[in-house]
Amino acid sequence: MRLLPLGTNGFLPGHGRQTMSFLVERAGALVLLDAGSGVSRLLEPAARALLGDAERLDVVLTHYHLDHLVGLSYLPGVARGLALRIFAPAPPLTESGPEALAALIAPPFFPVTLERWPMPVEVRPYSGPELEAGPFRFAVRGQDHPGGSAGLRLGDELAYITDTVCDPATARFVRGVGTLLHEVWLTDEESAREAAARTGHSAAGEVADLARRARVRRLLPVHHHPRRSGEELVALAAELRRRSELEVELAIEGVPLELGR
Ligand SMILES: [Zn+2]
Ligand SMILES: [Zn+2]
Repeated sequence: MRLLPLGTNGFLPGHGRQTMSFLVERAGALVLLDAGSGVSRLLEPAARALLGDAERLDVVLTHYHLDHLVGLSYLPGVARGLALRIFAPAPPLTESGPEALAALIAPPFFPVTLERWPMPVEVRPYSGPELEAGPFRFAVRGQDHPGGSAGLRLGDELAYITDTVCDPATARFVRGVGTLLHEVWLTDEESAREAAARTGHSAAGEVADLARRARVRRLLPVHHHPRRSGEELVALAAELRRRSELEVELAIEGVPLELGR
């Protein structure tokens, strides 16, 4: 199983990084986790190699904030020829459901509705506790974030935990997983200084503690703040490594990572 980071920033692109999107490939099957501006990287060679002769692309959305969603509107341009299934969170997991997509992907925001896209598109609501997208079986957990968001776990190989406060219950949900993608929106200093930013997001120190408690093998911080430079991210990863005593890596957009134990 391979993971190709396409977008690792929260909120907006910056420092050469796009917003949240990750492509997972196993035996030719593909699932896209979130559809931020990183979807534009589906045109790049690393993604083209993973897409291969695939006929279908499944997309799992964690919630409806635009930094996880805007790239849906790119798909007619970058995923032409692939049948799409969009797994859209629904109440009680999130406050909104797939009607949000119908509102966004329609005039005046987009020229044509999903039914009139050049490829077949199916929208499937999901609310957990499980989600099956082709061969990918996810465990699903509701998270504390404005409007709600979904935490996802894919077997023992991968957990994708973004747009959430750092929640002790997450440690149980991701326990023993091989690779944990967890948002680190804030440094500890920022978290102490910016109370408002803490609502719905996580800071470095608490994520390091959670990952260590959960005994994950490898931690990848994601949902980076757009103001953070590459050097600052390297320092952040070093701090996470020191505090968690775990393997910590930075997900580099366009560079695939092997998953598996
Ligand atoms: Zn976000
Ligand atoms: Zn969000």
